[in-house]
Amino acid sequence: MGGGLGSLSAAYWITEAENARERFDITVYQMGWRLGGKAASGRNAALGQRIEEHGLHIWLGFYENGFRTIRRALDAINEIDPRPVRTYESWKQAFTPHSLVSFEEWWGGRWQHWPFLFPRNEGIPGEGGVLEPRFVLQTLLGWLQDQHEQQFGNGVGHRALRSALDELKRLEGDGAGAVDGVLGELITDVMRAYLTTIWAVCRFRLDDPATRRFFILNDLAGTMLIGIQRDGLLTKGFESADGEDWVEWLTRHGAQHAVPTSLPAPACGACCG
Ligand SMILES: Cc1cc2nc3c(=O)[nH]c(=O)nc-3n(C[C@H](O)[C@H](O)[C@H](O)COP(=O)(O)OP(=O)(O)OC[C@H]3O[C@@H](n4cnc5c(N)ncnc54)[C@H](O)[C@@H]3O)c2cc1C
Repeated sequence: MGGGLGSLSAAYWITEAENARERFDITVYQMGWRLGGKAASGRNAALGQRIEEHGLHIWLGFYENGFRTIRRALDAINEIDPRPVRTYESWKQAFTPHSLVSFEEWWGGRWQHWPFLFPRNEGIPGEGGVLEPRFVLQTLLGWLQDQHEQQFGNGVGHRALRSALDELKRLEGDGAGAVDGVLGELITDVMRAYLTTIWAVCRFRLDDPATRRFFILNDLAGTMLIGIQRDGLLTKGFESADGEDWVEWLTRHGAQHAVPTSLPAPACGACCG
């Protein structure tokens, strides 16, 4: 195997699994001394110990498999006495939690900032399970509602989003099928009406960066909700959409032309896989 994270993870989990450890003899091939492939990084002593790597590396909190692997691997190293290498005592030393992320887009003759404040939750990276479609639905609706409130206050669109969110909360505890059935049309209808309304308001002000950003983000989130419902992802699971290109998926569910080619959709696809 090569020395990238894909093969190193595979090598690690094979050696962890009792029934596989004895069966396989693993060799990692690496040109030079540094493992890690595209995720390798090091310091250049000749240039003030600057960090040199392929580029920025961030892990979103929901990279459950990645966090599970690094946590377990660090624990495994630290359990060996004496330790074979010097490394972090705990995975928490290796990561710095961060909520504010800003993307940059060249638009209108200058760099436009797209700051995102990722909300934190109580979860611990590496301890979560499968991402529940219902949770995604609730988060998207809540986020849309906040955005709408900031831009327009408590107008009609806000009330529609509120009622969809209330309905979703009311169904807590019911299976995905029930949620899909009851909420399906409500969400699709509310979203369509909502997107039509904000398009009518925003379309003549798209030269204004803040309005354009607001519309694009809302169109993105709203289209995701419509797509989740239309494709039955609540009951079939997100895996059933594997194999379809993300931007094509958005376009198929009616995203405005600006959305698939503007900044957040590709960025979101790249980060979230
Ligand atoms: C600029 C940049 C930023 C990124 N940012 C993030 C991020 O923020 N968060 C995130 O989660 N991911 C990020 N990624 C993606 C992540 O780094 C990669 O997905 C991951 O490192 C890929 O691992 P891999 O093992 O599949 O492949 P690679 O890392 O490419 O590993 C393949 C290895 O195989 C070796 N190899 C190839 N052929 C042979 C051969 N014939 N013999 C021996 N060895 C061979 C290569 O030299 C390499 O070491 C980023 C990637 C880049 C480039």
